[in-house]
Amino acid sequence: MTILADPMRPEWYRVQRSRKDTADTFTLDLEPEPGVATPPFAAGQFNMLYVFGVGEVPISISGDPTQPQTLVHTTRAVGVVTQAIRALKRGATIGVRGPFGSHWPVEACMGKDVVLVAGGIGLAPLRPVIYQLLAQREQYGNIVLLYGTRTPADILYPRQLAQWRARFDLDVDITVDRASDTWRGNVGVVTKLILKAAFDPMDTVAMICGPEVMMRFTIMELLKRGLRAEDIFVSMERNMKCAIGFCGHCQFGPSFICKEGPVLRYDQIKHWFGIREV
Ligand SMILES: Cc1cc2nc3c(=O)[nH]c(=O)nc-3n(C[C@H](O)[C@H](O)[C@H](O)COP(=O)(O)OP(=O)(O)OC[C@H]3O[C@@H](n4cnc5c(N)ncnc54)[C@H](O)[C@@H]3O)c2cc1C
Repeated sequence: MTILADPMRPEWYRVQRSRKDTADTFTLDLEPEPGVATPPFAAGQFNMLYVFGVGEVPISISGDPTQPQTLVHTTRAVGVVTQAIRALKRGATIGVRGPFGSHWPVEACMGKDVVLVAGGIGLAPLRPVIYQLLAQREQYGNIVLLYGTRTPADILYPRQLAQWRARFDLDVDITVDRASDTWRGNVGVVTKLILKAAFDPMDTVAMICGPEVMMRFTIMELLKRGLRAEDIFVSMERNMKCAIGFCGHCQFGPSFICKEGPVLRYDQIKHWFGIREV
């Protein structure tokens, strides 16, 4: 875990590249200003991105943990700050605090099958896991990526997905809620893909990221297939201000998402999971 000198002080980065992924989603590559050392991060952690005069938001790191020099974030522009981030041009300066939070149990599932289930932009916080698994492919059993989006136009990283699908050592299955005229793939919710996915439920770790309703139904399907609750991990989102456990905005049951999360083990949160007010 990285110890930050002053976790409340942003370091300055420059936008190296900004590319549009879908109608409302974009990916930024950030490089540190001279004299700033980019700290290592673990798959699943997030940074606080700060736009001068606008505000700060938590965004997961979507890049490759083995190449931490360039910080990569995939963001959906939903409101004031994320729209301001989208407007940043190449060369613009942005503040970054982090990395913060818990991470996916990538090391701990060596020797096991791994199932990743992503919904919409939930693929972004899981992408670092895929990089890490593929970098040490021989250490894992079957690796399955199940991905669902609303429409084909909402699919993130389509070229990268095509490359992953072409591999023999990674099972990628994609589905959309609503097909377009040219779509020849699965139609329906992502949970439908779980039944036919190739993994040994007694020796599998599952990592899920997406809207909470999608995660809830995914967990139900995985439990039905025989996975243990302690082998299921989810990434939770709650608005936050400080990211270091002071402000209390991101409280979830007895946990703070910024410290104990965002990645949490299902059996440890199941009493609070799915309660709207929590
Ligand atoms: C740990 C963590 C990791 C995150 N990682 C990512 C990430 O990798 N990529 C990413 O795009 N977002 C991510 N988010 C969500 C992101 O932080 C919020 O979308 C952002 O704070 C919104 O700020 P804003 O100022 O743009 O919108 P606001 O002005 O605060 O909100 C504007 C409107 O959008 C709605 N809104 C806010 N957040 C969302 C949302 N997530 N989805 C739909 N509507 C929303 C609000 O209810 C409000 O109506 C993460 C959140 C957490 C807690």
